Amino acid sequence: MIYLDHAASTYPYVEVIHLFRDSLGEAFANPSAAHRLGLQEELKIKDAKNRLAKVLHCEAGELILCSGATEAANMAIKGYLNANRHSGKKVLVTAAEHAAVYQTAKFICAKLQLEFCEIALNRDGTVDLADLAQQLNQECAFVCVMAVNNETGAVNDLHAVTRLLHEKAPQAKLCVDYVQALCKAELNLRQAAVDFGIFSGHKVHAPKGVGMLYVKKGTRIEPLLHGGGHQGGLRSGTENALFAEALAIAVEHGTRNLRADREKVAKLRRIFMEHLDESLYCVNSATDASPWILNLSFEGVKGETLLHALADQETYISQASSCHSKAPHSHVLKAMKLSVSRMESAVRVSFDASQSEADIEKASGQINELVRALRRISKR
Ligand code: PLP
Repeated sequence: MIYLDHAASTYPYVEVIHLFRDSLGEAFANPSAAHRLGLQEELKIKDAKNRLAKVLHCEAGELILCSGATEAANMAIKGYLNANRHSGKKVLVTAAEHAAVYQTAKFICAKLQLEFCEIALNRDGTVDLADLAQQLNQECAFVCVMAVNNETGAVNDLHAVTRLLHEKAPQAKLCVDYVQALCKAELNLRQAAVDFGIFSGHKVHAPKGVGMLYVKKGTRIEPLLHGGGHQGGLRSGTENALFAEALAIAVEHGTRNLRADREKVAKLRRIFMEHLDESLYCVNSATDASPWILNLSFEGVKGETLLHALADQETYISQASSCHSKAPHSHVLKAMKLSVSRMESAVRVSFDASQSEADIEKASGQINELVRALRRISKR
């Protein structure tokens, strides 16, 4: 099997598997329980949050553990806008945002009668800063700009975004989806001057079902989940020490190896491209995009057809983002103004540093053969 769909989900690190294998049977006590076993679990959660805060350069109290990035996005966007009803009338969201952010913002804007404004993209998939500058004003309550796009790997200039916000809408809160940037770029939340940060475990070799929201100290949000008042009353529900530890292990591991992994992945991407027949494809990702994600079009062959043909050979890629693979065209590629034939034939290949060069070469070869064969069939 050759798995090239790491932007959709990753396998858990061996250390994470060992953690579950060794501790699942023992780590059963409730972290809120007053007895010693409960206290042990509570200490594990505190330790995990401290370790995560150290890596991300923030305070442990600014991190809320949750089920994943979708929940984190809901907590941030609904939580802030529900708690701060008079903070402004407009919410700005880039056209590239993942559905977890985009749809949440759209929903709450309709509900609270706020203006939902989409920020345009450049042709390379990054946010159009001129459009952002034009739309930012004193009426803006909330702005969502993702760090790295999950379909194309486009990297946004968050320094430029925060500068614009500071100049034109200092009252607006900035929410950054860091899902595809975590362990792939150096993150310093204190310096980044963001108000909310969204993270997911299963994209960084932790299990599915764990994620995290960073909420800058002093930012008021209304909780989504009410109950026993866990995590400072912001996310009620019994905490899962194993998930917290797994996330800390994965994020520490990924951050420690970031530079080496980046070099390795860039090399894999190069090898992949070198072995593809250049007469067959065009590249939809910018040259300076995250090396982990590569979006390509093989015009004349539907992305879905290629995906399934490759899967028959046990090589796995995806069409766009796997979360909304049922939509006719990717909203991101559409916002980049790609032609219909290019959108229809687009696929996403996403790498991981653990992969072998031989597998990557093999995958390119399979794609060359399949695209040629599928084009022959469609011409008949
Ligand atoms: N944001 C981005 C950029 C993503 O790629 C994803 C997952 O595909 C999400 C948010 C949602 O993450 P989760 O699966 O943890 O809810």
